Amino acid sequence: MNIQVLIIEDEPKTAQSLKQGLEEYHYEVDLAYDGHFGLRLAKEKKYDIIVTDIILPYLNGIEICKELRGLGIQTPIIILTALGNTDDVVMGFDAGADDYLTKPFELKELLVRIRALLKRSSNAPLPPNILRTKEIEVNLDTRLVLRNGKRIELTPKEFALLVFFIRHRGKVVSKSDIADKVWDIDFDTGTNVIEVYVNYLRKKIDKDFEKKLIHTQFGLGYVFKDDEQ
Ligand code: CA
Repeated sequence: MNIQVLIIEDEPKTAQSLKQGLEEYHYEVDLAYDGHFGLRLAKEKKYDIIVTDIILPYLNGIEICKELRGLGIQTPIIILTALGNTDDVVMGFDAGADDYLTKPFELKELLVRIRALLKRSSNAPLPPNILRTKEIEVNLDTRLVLRNGKRIELTPKEFALLVFFIRHRGKVVSKSDIADKVWDIDFDTGTNVIEVYVNYLRKKIDKDFEKKLIHTQFGLGYVFKDDEQ
């Protein structure tokens, strides 16, 4: 199978010429002209490399990197930056980008970077599909959940909710975030389904433990905390 590349670039000419150029080298290329669509593709399809411009409509390249890394998606990312914008590069690396190219660049430079990243990522051991906080371990393949080594049985929805909390640990998540991302529904203030499920989850992961992991932030939502202390 050919190497799959996602290019997120809002200048149609640049995007098209990169696509054509890479296709000549037998890469398979998808194009996205804005940040939202780019992020959606990156989440839905498994790419070998993502090349993203920084300044994009709706969502910039740095935000895309952050979002993907936050979701545990480790696809190598090359960011495209305008000449002299060192701050962008630093922010890009902080957000989880692997490499950058300064515009304008030649196709052969991009090819060199892509090959180097592919080599690096194919040599790297496969990341275990495990999410870990100080006390919780979640295996995303086997769905085994442990707290301090003790096995915890969760229903699929509780499991999805826990994974969502862990991926956003330390941050306040609102009920509407949960409704949207875990239930894929619009939040209706008339329903208490989120509270009900958060309570189910608490009973299983927190009830028997002195330290509580799920905290209510009144009027805001919840925050999952399992600090290194
Ligand atoms: Ca741009």
